[in-house]
Amino acid sequence: MNLFRHAQFYTTVNHLKDLPTTTAEIAFVGRSNAGKSSAINTLTNHTRLAYVSKTPGRTQHINFFELTNGGFMVDLPGYGYAQVPEAIRRHWVTLLGDYLQTRAQLIGLILIMDARHPLKELDKQMLDFFAVTNRPVHILLSKADKLSKNEQIKTLSSVKKALQPYFARQQVTVQLFSSLKKHGIDEVNQIVADWFDQ
Ligand code: GDP
Repeated sequence: MNLFRHAQFYTTVNHLKDLPTTTAEIAFVGRSNAGKSSAINTLTNHTRLAYVSKTPGRTQHINFFELTNGGFMVDLPGYGYAQVPEAIRRHWVTLLGDYLQTRAQLIGLILIMDARHPLKELDKQMLDFFAVTNRPVHILLSKADKLSKNEQIKTLSSVKKALQPYFARQQVTVQLFSSLKKHGIDEVNQIVADWFDQ
């Protein structure tokens, strides 16, 4: 079953205290401009389910979408946008950290990283935040179409190598993804379906 196709918008919230009651959910996080909204739109086969930002870092709310199995997909605000004032940035990193560590029904995390700039400091921080939950993380190396076939193979391998220390403490998987070419959709769907089945 394709979990993402025909996903429906459910609700949007600005504060953790307003999070809706759900059964099980997966969350999408990533640096601002990493390609998160495009990935969500590609996976769900919508052109505008998630808002692709012209101004990175502008959307700071948490969007919920209902998947075809009754589970939920959560679009978290992008982090790391340089032009956001420090206080606001810190507020959102804390909020993200709180959500990742305390949301009981969060069964797994999809972390989007631009394949050309993987594993930035804040990405590692997100992995650290999430590690305490013992829940799996699946990394999408997005915009893979911007790399040659050879660079794609090299990037995948070097990211896996850099993740070695993380494998010891949490379940981390990684794949190449391209919203432009619609590559990698089945792989994500399979991973997420397994999370819901566990
Ligand atoms: P977000 O801030 O993480 O939600 O990133 P967006 O989805 O808004 O994408 C940021 C920019 O990267 C936009 O200009 C997108 O068109 C572009 N982009 C996203 N995914 C891809 C992709 O798979 N291939 C290419 N070539 N560009 C992409």
